[in-house]
Amino acid sequence: MSQSTITIVKNTDKKQKPQSKDIAFGRTFTDHMFVMDYESDKGWHEPRIVPYEPLTLDPAAMIFHYGQTVFEGMKAYRTEDDRVLLFRPDKNLERLNLSSDRLSIPPVDEEKVMEYLVELIRLEQDWVPSFEGTSLYVRPFIIGTEPSLAVAPSKTYKLMVILSPVGPYFKGGIKPVQINVEEQYTRAVKGGTGMAKTAGNYSSAYQAQAKAYKEGLADVLWLDGIEKRYIEEVGSMNIFFKIDGEVVTPALSGSILKGITRMSIIELLQKWGIPVSERRISIEELYEAYEEGKLEEAFGTGTAAVISPVGELNWLGRKMTINDGEIGSLSQKLYDTITGIQRGSVEDAYGWTVE
Ligand code: PMP
Repeated sequence: MSQSTITIVKNTDKKQKPQSKDIAFGRTFTDHMFVMDYESDKGWHEPRIVPYEPLTLDPAAMIFHYGQTVFEGMKAYRTEDDRVLLFRPDKNLERLNLSSDRLSIPPVDEEKVMEYLVELIRLEQDWVPSFEGTSLYVRPFIIGTEPSLAVAPSKTYKLMVILSPVGPYFKGGIKPVQINVEEQYTRAVKGGTGMAKTAGNYSSAYQAQAKAYKEGLADVLWLDGIEKRYIEEVGSMNIFFKIDGEVVTPALSGSILKGITRMSIIELLQKWGIPVSERRISIEELYEAYEEGKLEEAFGTGTAAVISPVGELNWLGRKMTINDGEIGSLSQKLYDTITGIQRGSVEDAYGWTVE
């Protein structure tokens, strides 16, 4: 067997698929998963699709101790004419390797992994739900598996891909959310791991999230970790503001994740001739724009929601109500365009989808 030929072991014990669009996020998994191993002398090898099942790992496996892991998140969408589309999956695999580089994990061959991914989704295509707003969430991840407590990169890894049918992000239509500007905690700093999709960035955000929830707010707007002035991102989303006709999003500073939705929105706005800039923007500047009545729209962007309008920002007790707490027309147009391309109802003039 060549090192890159995929083997498939079919699962004979099929699970029941979701019967409605009411699917809790990330709790149901399909019948199969993809696995591939890495060893220093063999490289990435033995790509295989096998029945979804628990793993056996040595308790000393490095992932459990020093968090050497990266992950990705993308979705497969069912179109009206029953095709299955992925949205810019090449960008997710590119980012997987960027994250791996930061975590000292050996890179994968992006083209080969794309083939494996498509093969897995083809096998599991009946799991891509067709109810409105639903999709199949695709979660590739890599873990260091070497049994060793040495504080050093693992010599062995596993790349796995699991699939999970998910319901609509917004139940009952898009609803603008209220966000807390986080002053106490920091998500990431330049030179840290903020630009990587790695576990610790997420678990270290739980406390700030909990604080926001306690105040009845939906999420956290992160500021830079050094001056606590410049806006970075919101929860697991990038952030955009429409100020006096111009769309502004924080520049990728090293501590911000390079969102694929973000990238797509910038490209769309440029095509549409709407001024868009990636630059530093401070919370003071935003508040000033708000006070002058120039803050027209604000929205988070990411695979989960595509566009999540921000209806209110709470900055040290000062409230900024944006567009009367309603979704703005540009936010709506971006949402309709991107979800339309993803679901095949809007022409994909950019070649963003992969069938
Ligand atoms: N920032 C963070 C921290 C995220 O986890 C995500 C979700 N991947 C995003 C931004 C948005 O990225 P994308 O548009 O690629 O989903």
